[in-house]
Amino acid sequence: MKINQIDFHHLGMRLKAPFANSLTTIQDRELILIEIRDEDGVVGWGECVAFSSPWYTEETCGTAWQVMGEFLVPLLLGEIIDHPGEVNERFSIYRYNSMAKAALEGAVWDLWAKREGRSLAATLGGVREYVAAGVAVGAQGSVQDMIELVRQRVEEGYQRVKVKIQPGADLEVLGPLRKAFPHLPLMADANSAYSLKDIDRLKALDEFQLLMVEQPLAVDDIMDHAKLQERINTPICLDESITSFEDARRAVEWGSCQVINVKLGRVGGISEAMRIHELAMQREIPLWCGGMLESGISRSQHIALASLPGFTLPGDLSASSRYWSKDIITPETFVKNGLIHVPTGPGIGVHVNYEQVEAVRIRSQRFQATK
Ligand SMILES: [Mg+2]
Repeated sequence: MKINQIDFHHLGMRLKAPFANSLTTIQDRELILIEIRDEDGVVGWGECVAFSSPWYTEETCGTAWQVMGEFLVPLLLGEIIDHPGEVNERFSIYRYNSMAKAALEGAVWDLWAKREGRSLAATLGGVREYVAAGVAVGAQGSVQDMIELVRQRVEEGYQRVKVKIQPGADLEVLGPLRKAFPHLPLMADANSAYSLKDIDRLKALDEFQLLMVEQPLAVDDIMDHAKLQERINTPICLDESITSFEDARRAVEWGSCQVINVKLGRVGGISEAMRIHELAMQREIPLWCGGMLESGISRSQHIALASLPGFTLPGDLSASSRYWSKDIITPETFVKNGLIHVPTGPGIGVHVNYEQVEAVRIRSQRFQATK
């Protein structure tokens, strides 16, 4: 297929409620949608999930816009692409910028699957008709507020609840939560709020029988996570530390984690995520799909990924209505009996609601092939 045109759409969306973790609080969410058109007029969609500021990774919407436009788009525009797996290879001449790369690569995967007349899930080797829905609950004003919100999410059918923790708001939150919900599949995400000095505090989490503790230590510290895992019983899950297949390989070999959270934007796209999946299958490391406070485009890609056999744990895959008054896809993602149906239509299997895109669009930019 020959790539003839690429459009960037910079969106400004607003979450229904602020989402707080140990590092920041978000309510206004910028995103960049990617629309790629081939010479036959078939369109693929991708999404850049970088945040407005570099609190989660070093990328931002601004840096991604520039890197995609100046460096990555020229590697695709007017080019013949036989398989989306080639995109990663083309992009490998530039370092990092995973979210920028994943946005464009994801759009090529959608385009290619549409041309093949197959769903993205089937294209990737998905085996599930439904994926389990989990939910992340941000930090709340009080423990009572947290318990009430978790109760609401459980009633909505979510199969696993994740809460955000940090020193001083960990044992104090998880103790009452575990007491209120003795059998709930519960986990905690620290977003790197601890260091090895906090080992006793982290060891104390063992009594709550958490499914896992996510990213307790620094982003770039695969070694200290291995030391911590030796000392605590709660399985460690890595999120921010895993930015590539190589990170995943090192983490698994050194015993830094027992679980991996895969986010397409963070690891640089679908091809890299598939390599991590293959490794995880070989090493029997359970995977789950994270969420990025994303729109329905990135979520649909994550749902397709979560249908693969190695994704054995419920991810942060929630209904559109969990985040947005109105998502930019139709049909919106919904959760029934704790499950999300994996779309079977071509590509990501959902349509883009152009009217809604225009309603929240801040700016756009078009690139056209000249050859
Ligand atoms: Mg996380």
